[in-house]
Amino acid sequence: MGMLEGKVAFITGGASGIGAGTARRFAQEGARVMIADVQAEEGARVCDEIARAGGEAGYVDCNVSDPEAVRAAVAATVSRFGGLDIVFANAGINGVWAPIDELQPGEWDRTLDINLRGTYLTVHFAVPHLKARGGGSILITSSVNGTRTFSSPGASAYSTSKAGQVAFMKMIALELGRHQIRCNAVCPGLIHTHIGERTEQRHTEEIGIEVELPQGSPALRGGEGDPVDVADTCLFLASDLGRHVSGVEVYVDGGASLLR
Ligand code: NAD
Repeated sequence: MGMLEGKVAFITGGASGIGAGTARRFAQEGARVMIADVQAEEGARVCDEIARAGGEAGYVDCNVSDPEAVRAAVAATVSRFGGLDIVFANAGINGVWAPIDELQPGEWDRTLDINLRGTYLTVHFAVPHLKARGGGSILITSSVNGTRTFSSPGASAYSTSKAGQVAFMKMIALELGRHQIRCNAVCPGLIHTHIGERTEQRHTEEIGIEVELPQGSPALRGGEGDPVDVADTCLFLASDLGRHVSGVEVYVDGGASLLR
């Protein structure tokens, strides 16, 4: 029997990268999965892969910064699968990385809207359904950036959003423990996904600080990982193995952020 047999999972940003890897992993373990994303074609492809492997998944178009879209996506999940047990607020962007006097208000807002407001909206609309089930597990994808490292020049909006997610997760863990709802965050280091291709960097070379590191990286696998490495951590946190774990951030970076 799979570790998530009978569970229903709602995964934002599930069409690509860490979200897609986690959707596949959760489905392998018996969960029925709803992918919420803004990339319908990629989302459908992940659903097909899951179906071919014998799992069950659906796709719903949902911009996580839009309250009505998130409300409707959560409702569609509950209506299709009959309830909700696991919520993975994972959708996120790097946005624009630029010197603070160049970074525009609209650019700041977009990063915070998707990464932080999107996390709040996902949890906000999902929680009544977790309470109705008598418990559940909330996972949030934060980052080493903004929580343990501050070494990406110009990533002030991104790092702020990622730090905010961890504070939010801890508040929610305390608030919802009485409802048997756990809340945790994963903080990945460098994971091979598509996020870098969608990053806009402007003049960050002007504000970088040179740091001298030891020769070579002492971290596991040079500190680089794949979506499945994060997915397996999420599986632990979402499943019964993590039943007494709430309010923590787990670094998934091979130890790299201990040093930089
Ligand atoms: P990715 O770009 O491969 O996947 C992100 C997914 O989120 C995409 O499918 C994208 O369409 C979706 N998305 C973007 N904006 C959205 C919106 N408004 N509404 C709904 N979906 C939206 O990137 P990834 O690396 O898998 O990123 C997932 C999460 O991991 C992000 O929160 C990111 O900050 C975090 N993260 C990634 C790394 C890394 O090295 N890849 C490191 C630390 C944290």
